[in-house]
Amino acid sequence: MDLTDIDTIGVVGAGTMGHGIAQVAAISGYDVVLRDIGRELVDDGLAAIDDSLSRFVEKGDLSDEEADAARERIGGTTDLDDLTECQFVVEAVVEKLGVKEDVFADLDDTLPAEAVLATNTSTLSITSIASATDRPDRVVGLHFMNPVPLMEGVEVVVGEHTDPAVVDLAHELAADLGKTTWEADDKPGFVSNRILMPWLAEGIRAFDEGVATKDDIDRGMKLGTNVPMGPLELADHIGLDICLDAMETLHTELGDRYQPPYLLKRKVEAGDLGKKSGRGFYEYED
Ligand code: NAD
Repeated sequence: MDLTDIDTIGVVGAGTMGHGIAQVAAISGYDVVLRDIGRELVDDGLAAIDDSLSRFVEKGDLSDEEADAARERIGGTTDLDDLTECQFVVEAVVEKLGVKEDVFADLDDTLPAEAVLATNTSTLSITSIASATDRPDRVVGLHFMNPVPLMEGVEVVVGEHTDPAVVDLAHELAADLGKTTWEADDKPGFVSNRILMPWLAEGIRAFDEGVATKDDIDRGMKLGTNVPMGPLELADHIGLDICLDAMETLHTELGDRYQPPYLLKRKVEAGDLGKKSGRGFYEYED
């Protein structure tokens, strides 16, 4: 299967991430089937898409016609069988391994054998999720960032059995949705959350231990490290439950990650201090 074979994308889970993924797919010209477990949840997802598309029109980023065409491309459902026409499905349900495994087993039973099943998991093992199916070679991580319509990056995560052709397809599809990808191996938290979650956790602990007010922690990190949101603001934005699930997975898998890395100590001992010495993790010419 290549990109030209994909005309309908399924999205499972119509929450924060799912409705965002459905929206960018529809804006990019794909038909979309958006599934959740209750009609109200589906309708909430569709309403959120409707609002977001209207804001894009107000800002002049989409015409009325483009927004309406995107709305018309999305069908909401609670029925798993409505996903049978999809060549590519992105799962965005809660960050619980058991729930995702059940969803993947159902998708595997329902969808044609060649369909690709992608997961938007933040931290869970792609390989584990894939093992709930009889097609682990067609399971891949496609990790969108929040809010999906505004964030450019997508992390492609390669499971133990993911077919390289499926990895390529995931990169190509993300590019077609206007995103820029990077690739990570199936290690806990991949690149993004392995690094982000300890940062959020430390921001929360700093607040709890009275290091500074929450405003000062967020302002300090924004001004001090040139990021658009501080840790407390960003944790709220992600969803504290999603953060907790992600941190619990990383804690179980990786243990105490807060010791200074040995590699950092070795580089400092060697005088590789970064830009100022001409070499750190990178080499600098000037
Ligand atoms: P959410 O709680 O907003 O939405 C999850 C949705 O999944 C809910 O609407 C729920 O009803 C639905 N759901 C649960 N079980 C289902 C099932 N069996 N079938 C269909 N739908 C089902 O969660 P979210 O923030 O959208 O996160 C979804 C996934 O995306 C998680 O794996 C999360 O780790 C990941 N993620 C989240 C963020 C973020 O910032 N929130 C960023 C990147 C990745």
